Amino acid sequence: MPVDPVCGIELDEELALLHEYGGKKFYFCCNGCRRIFIKKPRKYKNNT
Ligand SMILES: [Zn+2]
Repeated sequence: MPVDPVCGIELDEELALLHEYGGKKFYFCCNGCRRIFIKKPRKYKNNT
């Protein structure tokens, strides 16, 4: 199961918001988390 790298919760891949960064796919629970990631992707990209 994908994990939201910002808030750390497990997500349903079909319902989660997808964002691609550095050739990798990241999933988010909501637009808020996705926006936080987009602002500071380096802070979160290794958390998955
Ligand atoms: Zn989240």
